[in-house]
This record gives sequence, structure tokens and C-alpha cells, in this order.
Amino acid sequence: MNMEEKERPVDFIREIIREDIKNNKYGGRVHTRFPPEPNGYLHIGHAKSICLNFGIAEEFKGLCNLRFDDTNPTKEEQEYVDSIKEDVRWLGFDWQEREYYASDYFEKLYEYAVELIKKGSAYVCDLSADEIRDYRGTLTEIGKDSPYRNRPFEENLGLFERMRKGEFPDGSRTLRAKIDMRSGNINMRDPVMYRILHAEHHRTGNKWCIYPMYDYAHCLSDSIEGITHSICTLEFEDHRPLYDWFLDQLGVYHPQQIEFARLNLSRTVLSKRKLIQLVQEGHVSGWDDPRMPTLSGIRRRGYTPETIRNFCDRIGVAKKDSTVDMALLEYLLREDLNKRAQRVMAVLKPLRVVIINYPENQPENQIEELDAINNPEDPGMGTRKVPFSRVLYIEQDDFREEPPKEFFRLAPGREVRLRYAYFIKCVDVIKDKSGKIIELHCTYDPATRGGDSPLWVGSSTDRRKVKATLHWVSASHSIEAEVRLYDHLFAVPDPGEETGDFKKDLNPESLVILRSCMVEPYLAAAKSGDIYQFERQGYFCVDPDSSLWDGSSTGGKTVFNRTTTLRDTWAKIEKRLK
Ligand code: ATP
Ligand code: MG
Repeated sequence: MNMEEKERPVDFIREIIREDIKNNKYGGRVHTRFPPEPNGYLHIGHAKSICLNFGIAEEFKGLCNLRFDDTNPTKEEQEYVDSIKEDVRWLGFDWQEREYYASDYFEKLYEYAVELIKKGSAYVCDLSADEIRDYRGTLTEIGKDSPYRNRPFEENLGLFERMRKGEFPDGSRTLRAKIDMRSGNINMRDPVMYRILHAEHHRTGNKWCIYPMYDYAHCLSDSIEGITHSICTLEFEDHRPLYDWFLDQLGVYHPQQIEFARLNLSRTVLSKRKLIQLVQEGHVSGWDDPRMPTLSGIRRRGYTPETIRNFCDRIGVAKKDSTVDMALLEYLLREDLNKRAQRVMAVLKPLRVVIINYPENQPENQIEELDAINNPEDPGMGTRKVPFSRVLYIEQDDFREEPPKEFFRLAPGREVRLRYAYFIKCVDVIKDKSGKIIELHCTYDPATRGGDSPLWVGSSTDRRKVKATLHWVSASHSIEAEVRLYDHLFAVPDPGEETGDFKKDLNPESLVILRSCMVEPYLAAAKSGDIYQFERQGYFCVDPDSSLWDGSSTGGKTVFNRTTTLRDTWAKIEKRLK
């Protein structure tokens, strides 16, 4: 075994595939597919399935198709198809020319249905949806045969053809598989294969008014495409006998369905039905709201595809449902951003500081430019110049007039370091008529200039220490920006678990907008999607759309989305668990 092989993920699906290759099943081929229904945007749960299907194809030198499972015309739209393609690409996967649609197979699926009717394995049923449900029975009670179950096949053929021609209203008839109303598996009690739906389809228009059901369309789409391993989530385990039944009845190429546990993530919801409610009811700004667990939201928030792929590798693939802590995702995100994000200084809630002993009216060409390190994790990222001047901004939170015991930052009479600059000491606090602090007067010590040196100056015998280093910007050089601070969309780990309504658990503080932040001039060149670490604050990325929450303009201000704070809850959790 070479190194490369050793590092590959190990799980029960890959085990099955290795075995199949060894036994030359499917001629040693591996061909998977990712089959989204285009009825919403992809979320991070889908990423697990994408990484698994495309990842396996890559590892075993096979292929993976992108197949849109577009059998429900009423809920599907082109917008969703486009977003799904963009998201899969963003994750770094390529389906090459293999972009398929279940709707491409409608004609073929119809022919297969006719074949099943001719074999006596399918029949047209006139029961209504409610009646079908009543006849089906329950988990503890066997079902009852439909009175239409034994129609002669000529009659079934004629009716099915007339269903296709549009002669019957919606819901009046169905085509059902003739299996076993007494089966212990409800899915096998004569499941519906086709329903009548006079609805326009986003790709086939009005060509069809009967549409195949998922269970019938899916196995045959897999078969038509020559899929070897049809990987799906656990809820389809009870559908597998039906998957196999259709293929066996028709005697066509037979892929193998394998189920795995879906991803559940704390403090969010991963169901398109719920996500669509958040969008449509305006709880978020759209599918790509940076608080959404959608791939488009996560991307806008500043997550990298590498983080998502790494996350999917780390959580692995299992046969048992579980919930992954969001803190793991955030931990991996910080690990990734720490390596790649350029450090800058940004003051989110500015407090004016005047350095009263700094030369006044310094001519423009004499502005002091201090060297700042771009990324201590990566010296290759170099340094930049940060302008220093007589009037600065520091963070309001970094000053207390009456500092509590554990507060080591700036206070009257106290000295602190300004990052990359000087020690400053607060000598006066200026307030407005209402008593609000509007400005601090400080002195600086020219002997303390520069670099990333320690928190002290002087010789070893005559050492002067400070206890804090603050970030700052020069008032006249800084740029005003808008910063959006995001927190979890839900206030509890398991939304809806206690309240019964997930929307009751929405976090009212999931978005805080700060409109007058001051960032260092270096950020004038920041482009949409760029990610920075604002020193001491967290990671922030430039929003692609600098319009305001309400759609109005920010007046040209750059908008930064907080990707994540620097606080590392996961490390703390891990420590506690040890
Ligand atoms: P949702 O429950 O969000 O509506 P879905 O299963 O209806 O999801 P599809 O578009 O049918 O959405 O999903 C495409 C593929 O992604 C399927 O193979 C499905 O099993 C898989 N998938 C969906 N959600 C998850 C999840 N949370 N974890 C892993 N795989 C998932
Ligand atoms: Mg589905």
C-alpha cells in the first residue's frame, strides 16, 4: 500500500466498492451519481453526498454524473438547476459532459411502464389519493387490494395511453405496480408509478401530463446511465426492495443501492422544506444569506470549499444517524483561514484618540509608515505599511474609565501598546455635555516604536511593561466600512425540538450591522470574496453585493461579513472532554 492509498478515507461504502472491484463486479467499473431535485438550493448536507459520490469516483478512477431528479414539475425551477451547478463546481467537482436529467428519460420510462403493464406487473387504478391511502393499511395492518387490480392488460394499456394523452383530470387515475398489498414493507404495497398532473415542466414544457414517481424513475435512471453504486441516504433503505423489484421485473442493468446516514448539524436546519420557508417568509435575505446552511450562503459568509471538503472527510460516512456539532465546522474553518487570511486592522466601534505629544500638522510626505506583518503563520505573505498619525481610532471596548479587575486594556493613567506602533498612555478623557466619552487624549513614547516586539521597553533592570496590545487605525487615512456580524441562525442546538416550531427558535441576534467601522487604507483594494483576519476580532470577507439589508445602497462603502470570530469553542470543548 503506498502513502496515497493510506490517507484515503476508510468507510463501509468504500469497503463494498473495493470488494466489488476485486470480484470484477460491473467489470471493475465505478460509476456514481449525485441526484439533486432542483427544488431548492443545496445545503451542507448535500455537500456530504457530493463529496462522497464525486470523491469515490475520483479515488477509484471512475465517473460521477450530475443528474437532476426533475420529476415533480410543480416545485422545480431553472434557478435551482443553475445554483446547484454553481455550487457543485465551487466545491471543486466536475461532471464533465455528464449533466443528465430524469426528464430526459420520460419517453424511455413510459416505454418501460408499458412493458410492465404487458407483463401484468402494473395496472391503472381509479382510486383517489385518499382511497389509496386507506387501502394501503398501516405498519401493523395489511393492505387491501384495489378493485382495479385485476384489469385485463389491454384495458390497462388503453387507459395508460389515454392518461398520457390528457383525457383525464389530475388525481383521477394512477398507474400502480402490482406487487403485494400484504407485504410487511408498505413501500411494496402496489406503489404508485405515475400520476396525472397537468403542469408545465421547466424542461419538457407541456409535453407530459403524467409524471413518474421518484421510486420508479430513480432506479431506472441509474440503470440507463450505467451507474454501479447508487449511494443515497438512510431513509431510502426501506425503498431498496422496490428499487430492485422494478429492475428485476424489467430484466435491465441493475446497479446497487447503498444507504448512509445523512448529515445533521447542530444550530441549523438541513431540510429544503424548512429552508424554503425561511426564504419565502423573509426570515433571511435569500437563499444566499450568509447565515443560511446553504452552500451559496456559506460561500458568501467566507467559508472556503477546502473547509467544507475537509469537514466532509472528517465526519466520515456511517450507517447510523447522528448530529455533528457546528463547532467542528467552525474549528476547521478557523484552521484553514488562519493559514490563508491576511491580517489587517479594523476598528468596528471607533473611539477617537489624539496623541497630544505627536508632531502636529505633519506634512503629508512625512506621515509615518509602520511595518505590519501580513500573516505570522506564513512569512511568505510579507509585510505592508500602516500609516500612523496624531489622530487615531481605537475600539470603544478597549477603553474603560473605571476598569474592572481583569480589564488590562486602556484606562486613565494606564499605558498600552498599539500594535506595530508605540506605547501610548491615556492622560485625559473628553466627554460631551451628556457625559458620553467622545475622545481620549494620550501621549506616546517615541522610544517604543515598532515591530512586533514584546510588551516591554527598557533594559532588563529598568523594564517598563504593558499588559495589552490594541489594534487601531489612523483617522485621516482609514476608510469607512460596513460590517455585518453574524451569529448562529438558531438560538438552540436543536431547532424546533422543544418548541415544536423551528422558527420559534430563530436567534434574534443572528445579525448585527455596524455602519461606521474604520478600516486601514490597505483594504481600499479589497475585492468581493477576499478574506481577512481583522486583528483581535475574527475573520471577515468582502460581501459580493454592497447594498444594504433593505436593498438601499451603502453609499459605496465596502461591506464585510464576519465569517467567524477568533474564539475557539471547539478547542475548549475538546479540552474539557479530555
Ligand atoms: P432535503 O431533505 O433537504 O429536502 P432531499 O433529500 O430532498 O433533501 P435531494 O435534492 O433529493 O434533497 O438530495 C440530493 C442528494 O443529496 C440525495 O442523494 C440525498 O440523499 C442527499 N442528501 C440530502 N440531504 C442530505 C444530508 N443532510 N446529508 C447527506 N446527504 C443528503
Ligand atoms: Mg430527495
